[in-house]
Amino acid sequence: MSADRNNPAADTGLIVQNLFKSYESAGQAVSILRDLDLQMQPGQATCITGPSGSGKSTLLYLISALDRPDAGAIHLLGTDMIASSESKLTRLRNEQIGFVFQDHHLLPQLTVVENVILPLLPIAGVDSAAEARAAELLERVGLQHRKTHRPAELSGGERQRVAVARALINRPALVLADEPTGNLDPETANRVGDLLLELTAEQQTMLLCVTHSVELAQRFPQHFQLEAGKLVEHNRSVTSADASS
Ligand code: ADP
Repeated sequence: MSADRNNPAADTGLIVQNLFKSYESAGQAVSILRDLDLQMQPGQATCITGPSGSGKSTLLYLISALDRPDAGAIHLLGTDMIASSESKLTRLRNEQIGFVFQDHHLLPQLTVVENVILPLLPIAGVDSAAEARAAELLERVGLQHRKTHRPAELSGGERQRVAVARALINRPALVLADEPTGNLDPETANRVGDLLLELTAEQQTMLLCVTHSVELAQRFPQHFQLEAGKLVEHNRSVTSADASS
């Protein structure tokens, strides 16, 4: 299936259509995503909530082509995220997708600024422009004074702010955030959530966040719940009429 060229998200956004994914468990296929649709355009921020095990991380793996769906179509910036070659997908992932995880995934032996620059290495290498960009982002996340520190010397909230800067260093088209505030106290969580929203909006980056935190989701302009393998707008549960249609 190809993305519809008349669709405004076709070349610049994300289009997920009729996505199905199941996993084998004890010899049985367990259906996780069932006919899921999602569409995003530059600058859009969307949050998906759902209980643990509902398939939130699975959806992010599929969108970033780290896993394959059973059926359906995914296009990011016009690229087919299912049928394209592995080398094309790796390049697209490196250049156009920034990741923020629950556990910051910073490398302990590198300094803060080296961690932020890391995603640029396979693309442009490190030059003075990369260093200036990292310095600018560290300033934006309020950590310019921590550049030469190691992750172990930072608080949990500071580490997540470094992770936000690292996710944005390439000016990606899409940031995927998986429980980005999961390990933080509520006040720090709000600050990290706001920072993600602010910086992605400034750069016109799409932000797709998955979390069990309804409080974080409420800060987003768009909030879906993952229910029975599909996305439904928050506060609008799947009814029997929807289910039979
Ligand atoms: P969430 O992020 O909402 O907590 P996940 O997407 O991690 O949920 O997982 C959804 C379901 O799929 C869970 O029941 C999980 O055990 C199962 N699952 C995820 N990845 C795999 C896998 N590689 N093999 C088998 N089952 C998996």
